[in-house]
Amino acid sequence: MNIHEYQAKQLLKKFGVKVPEGRLIEEGANVAERASSAAQDLAKAQGNSVWVVKAQIHAGGRGKAGGVKVCKDVPSVKAAAQEIMGKTLVTPQTGAQGKKVHKVWIEEGSDIAREFYLGVVIDRAISQIVMMASTEGGMEIEEVAAKHPEKIFKVAVDPTLGYQSFHGRKLAVGLGLTPEQTKEAVKFFGNVYRCFLDSDCSLVEINPMILTKQGSLVALDAKFNFDDNGLFRHPEIVEMRDLLEENAQDVEASKYDLAYIALDGNIGCLVNGAGLAMSTMDIIKLHGGEPANFLDVGGSASKEKVAHAFKIILKDPAVKAILVNIFGGIMKCDVIAEGVIAAARELQLQVPLVVRLEGTNVEKGKEILASSGLKIIPADGLTDAAKKVVAAAKAGK
Ligand code: GDP
Ligand code: MN
Repeated sequence: MNIHEYQAKQLLKKFGVKVPEGRLIEEGANVAERASSAAQDLAKAQGNSVWVVKAQIHAGGRGKAGGVKVCKDVPSVKAAAQEIMGKTLVTPQTGAQGKKVHKVWIEEGSDIAREFYLGVVIDRAISQIVMMASTEGGMEIEEVAAKHPEKIFKVAVDPTLGYQSFHGRKLAVGLGLTPEQTKEAVKFFGNVYRCFLDSDCSLVEINPMILTKQGSLVALDAKFNFDDNGLFRHPEIVEMRDLLEENAQDVEASKYDLAYIALDGNIGCLVNGAGLAMSTMDIIKLHGGEPANFLDVGGSASKEKVAHAFKIILKDPAVKAILVNIFGGIMKCDVIAEGVIAAARELQLQVPLVVRLEGTNVEKGKEILASSGLKIIPADGLTDAAKKVVAAAKAGK
């Protein structure tokens, strides 16, 4: 799960990390008026005379796309908020279709002396938490890694021992901080580390982390990813979820506890088990086809769950054929067959449907499919199924 920059900053603040104060404006009536009073209100509280108006979308690279505006007076804040709200931003992280802005964050401006990059990730190979810092703040870290790997400094923290000040000092030396700044950096990195660990994050990126002209370290931007398996421990984080930012099919799938990922091809896949789903995609590709999605209905799906899975696949207009590939274990083939038929009838299925069943109650399942009167193409084995569905998709185009 992802959250917005303004939410990430609230979370960081709870862990003692310095962030600029700000106000959120949501889409709706009187955006300009609300932005203008938020700016005045902020100035009264913070004493600032510069504001930054920032588009809140789940993607970075907003600055270059016109989603971040530094404003020197209230009328400019008003104009910037009005311009950014509702705008579709296209950044390297949004894809070509871009992302529409539904929320705008107005914060006190900062006096930037230096910009740094700070990232925290899990290195699964060594089972440790890696903190990375770079002097090249504001830039895409992938680019720095490719062109100037020597400008990225890393420390690995063993979670059983925890973050120690030497970790922070090592990063601070890399960044060329003074002894005074190093003291603050050691605390800053430690607070970010605790925030990462206590919130069950899988990624935290602060780009840029800035050194202000007044000499303090501030998180000027923040990107968080959470490990979904840890979310049950954090109801306050789950509440930050913004469904407007997520793919509609993904949201629908997660409601029914289906693992769905949209892809670029035209063959819809409905499979049980992640391993089988991956090999199904492989074999489709091997026979010259392109999967339209990854979809794992899980080991113990019900008839209803299968029907919902079908609906999600069919919402993708690119789908020209569907392959149902089920290994009946806990999940019985006859139950799957009934789910397939119920969904095909309800949705008046037009695209060719190839079904490969194997395992518990397979004969009963095949019988149900054969006597349904629906045009279902039965397949025996993975290769047969892949060949048939690829041919069907090609014919459908
Ligand atoms: P991103 O483009 O989506 O990563 O958005 P950021 O929040 O990182 O902002 C992009 C850039 O805007 C930063 O790297 C800064 O250079 C600039 N910026 C953001 N906030 C301020 C601010 O308070 N003052 C000044 N002078 N520049 C800012
Ligand atoms: Mn940034």
